[in-house]
Amino acid sequence: MANTEANILLIYTGGTIGMIKDFETGALKSFNFDDLLKHIPELKLLDCTIETTSFEHPIDSSNMNARYWVQLATIIEEKYQDFDGFVVLHGSDTMSYTASALSFMLENLTKPVIFTGSQLPIGDLRTDAKENLITSIQLAALREKGRSKIAEVCLYFEYKLYRANRTTKINAEHFEAFASLNYPPLAESGVHLYINDDALYRPNRRKRFKVHKSMASNIVLLKMFPGIDIETVNHILSYPQIKGLIIETYGSGNATNEAWFIEALERLTKNNIPVINVTQCSGGSVVMGLYETSVPLKKIGVISGKDITTEAALAKLMYLLGQHLSPHSFKTIFETSLRGEMI
Ligand code: ASP
Repeated sequence: MANTEANILLIYTGGTIGMIKDFETGALKSFNFDDLLKHIPELKLLDCTIETTSFEHPIDSSNMNARYWVQLATIIEEKYQDFDGFVVLHGSDTMSYTASALSFMLENLTKPVIFTGSQLPIGDLRTDAKENLITSIQLAALREKGRSKIAEVCLYFEYKLYRANRTTKINAEHFEAFASLNYPPLAESGVHLYINDDALYRPNRRKRFKVHKSMASNIVLLKMFPGIDIETVNHILSYPQIKGLIIETYGSGNATNEAWFIEALERLTKNNIPVINVTQCSGGSVVMGLYETSVPLKKIGVISGKDITTEAALAKLMYLLGQHLSPHSFKTIFETSLRGEMI
C-alpha cells in the first residue's frame, strides 16, 4: 500500500522555544536541537513522518538578517521535492519579518511553510511551545485530494494560524503574541481544527516553484512623530547609498505637509528611489488624498502601502529592489498584492 502520510521537515533557526537557562548568568541561550525533541515525545504519536534540520549556530531572532533568510530559503529549496510541508522554529521577536520575507522569496509555493515558536522554553513546565509545535505540524501535514491543503507561508501561535505577511508581534509577554488586524486567521485550533477555507491562498499550481535570493540592503524606515525635524530627516535621507525608504505615517497615511519634509522626499522620488507610505496604526489602510496632509505625498509619487504591515513592506521593498524593475513598474507592482499581503 502506498504511504499517504505527509512528510514534514522541521527547521530550527533558534529562539526561546529551544533555549535553556544558563545557571551562571540566568540568561536564556540556545541548546542542542536534538535535545529539544526529547522534550516532546508526543511527536511520535502524530500521523506524519518528521525529519529535522537546524541552523549550524541557532540564533536569537534579534540577530536575524537577509543572509539568514537566504539560508532558510535555500534549505526549503533543496528539500522542496522531498517534503509535503515545512515547519520553521524561529524566535518570536522578528518572526513576522522573516516569515514575510520568505513569503516573497518563495514564489509559486504549493506546500505549507509554517513559522512557530514560543514565549516560554520547551523545557518550562508552563510552556506554550508544545501546543504551538504540535498543531503547526498537524496543519502542515493536512492533505486534501492528494495534495497539501495549505499552500502559503503562515505563522501559528496560540491557537491561531495566520497568513505570515499579515502578522505583527503585539505582545512581549502574553502567549497570544501575534495579531493579524487586516486579514482573518486561516485556521483556529480548539476541540477541532477549524480551517477558514475562504481565506486560504489559492496558488496557481501550474506555475513553477521559484526561489528568489536577491534581497536589497540600504533601505531606511522612518517613523513619523510630532516634532520630527528638518536636520534629522535631511541627515538620514542624505545617506548616499539609500535605495528605498519606508515612511511610517499617521492614520490613513498622513504626515506633516511642511515644505521641507515634502522636498526631502521629492529629492528621492525624483532620483527614482522608491518611497513607500505605510501606516503606523496596526489596522486599517493608507488612503493618500483622503486628508490634505497626504495630498502632497501622492503628488510627488509616493507609493501606497495600502493595508500592508511594516514588516511585509520592508520585505517586499527588499525583494522588489532585488528584481531590478523599471521605476514605473516598481510603483505598479508594489501597489499590487503579490502574495496576499495587501488588499
Ligand atoms: N528573543 C527571542 C527571539 O526572538 C524571543 C523568542 O524566541 O520568542 O529569538
